[in-house]
Amino acid sequence: MQSFRNYIGGELRAAGSGAAIEVFEPAVGEMYATVADSGREDLDAAVESAKRAAPGWANTPSAERAAWLLRIADGIEARLDEFAAAESRDTGKPLTLARSLDIPRAIANLRFFAGAATQFASEAHAMESGAINYTLRQPHGVVACISPWNLPLYLFTWKIAPALAAGNCVIGKPSELTPWTAMMLGQLCAQIGLPAGVLNILHGRGAGIGEAIIAHPAIRAISFTGGTTTGTRIASVAAPMFKKLSLELGGKNATLVFADADFDAALAGTVRAAFANQGEICLCGSRLLIERPLYERLRKSLVARARALRVGDPLEATTDQGALISSAHRDKVLAAIEAAHRLGGTLHCGGEPVRVPGRCAGGWFVAPTVIDGLPADCVTHQDEIFGPVVTLQSFDTDEEAVALANGVRYGLAASLWTRDVDRAHRISAQLEAGLVWVNCWMLRDLRVPMGGMKQSGVGREGGFEAMRFFTEPKNVCVSYR
Ligand code: NAD
Repeated sequence: MQSFRNYIGGELRAAGSGAAIEVFEPAVGEMYATVADSGREDLDAAVESAKRAAPGWANTPSAERAAWLLRIADGIEARLDEFAAAESRDTGKPLTLARSLDIPRAIANLRFFAGAATQFASEAHAMESGAINYTLRQPHGVVACISPWNLPLYLFTWKIAPALAAGNCVIGKPSELTPWTAMMLGQLCAQIGLPAGVLNILHGRGAGIGEAIIAHPAIRAISFTGGTTTGTRIASVAAPMFKKLSLELGGKNATLVFADADFDAALAGTVRAAFANQGEICLCGSRLLIERPLYERLRKSLVARARALRVGDPLEATTDQGALISSAHRDKVLAAIEAAHRLGGTLHCGGEPVRVPGRCAGGWFVAPTVIDGLPADCVTHQDEIFGPVVTLQSFDTDEEAVALANGVRYGLAASLWTRDVDRAHRISAQLEAGLVWVNCWMLRDLRVPMGGMKQSGVGREGGFEAMRFFTEPKNVCVSYR
């Protein structure tokens, strides 16, 4: 039985109290490891270590900070298979996905922000009256990066890399459900000798160590990705302390398919958007809006594709969809489907657990599910399900499509499929979403602003947006004659 430890002050350590949490393998439904259940004493040790390291790290030339990020990226790349296997076992996602997407993206995040460290620049404003303003962008000092379970190392590095690149020292907290690759990251940093305290990784529960982190007075900024309810809680604790907050929260994203779309491309994109990573991506297109003349054809084809997806052992190369993260989450997804059924929705496929024979017999699998026939304002269309469930609605006009797409409290992402260039631009401008994809889905350029409107979050990450978040702008005005 493995036991995953914290990374504090450059060393791997068990929780001071000795407490640990069980870690489960979703595809098997059994515990396979324990992870440190950190408490206040671990946080104090991590914060002290980060505070000690902060001045030196902030004054380290940006090229050297970049070199450290590149060393971490190289270390992950050298053990790509090990990291991918750990990520797949921890999350239940297909190994092929962890190997082709999650871990390569974690490496890319580190390399990208290594570049950003050396490229980041600030502004100068000259005044005709004989003065020049220039803006210093200085690191906050100690910052927190809190990440969820669905894309564990991918999202953890998405935060840690810009925080470190900008010169901050980090208290990182991965999800207690998926601690393995974060623990490996700590191990790697210890091996390569990253200066002690620059990065600290504390494992444990949101309600325990998570709460302690967000309330800690020495932590000046918090970058959080997770659910909207947790984001509300974090804002309520951190805002009165005037901490800088970046909140990347839930989504209920619309995919709009117009009758003039390239049908095959739209179908393939829609299937990916609905079911990739078991539907457990904040950017998933869980509401499919179809222009009426195309409705029956697309519905039938989508249902056929959904039925053909192979749900099974994440280790099999042919598996399209693995297990959901926990039995509780599996039950929540099934309950949401049951509620849709009770509301009068039609289940065209899925809706039930999948029994996978062999080693995965106890795993938490749910069949890809397609539902229609529900009113726009019902809970199924309004609440994030975060599983392999897509709902279908039809529309007759562009205005109706936009009203349906915007008719939820979330505003994270949307995708639209059309060959009409005018319509694509017009509707993109009208959608209440932080990211809009036209004739594609989840095509990600790391330079662009990433984040949501409405209850999908506050602030943006990605590119220089992240570098700006992780620095405090200070204007210096110099008068001259
Ligand atoms: P979650 O909010 O339950 O947990 C996220 C992280 O916050 C975990 O590390 C957890 O331990 C911690 N946490 C929980 N309560 C806390 C508290 N009170 N104080 C401090 N930390 C706390 O989310 P989850 O279930 O892990 O992830 C799924 C959610 O994340 C979905 O809603 C999904 O849409 C969202 N998500 C959003 C994005 C995005 O970029 N917008 C990306 C991925 C996932």
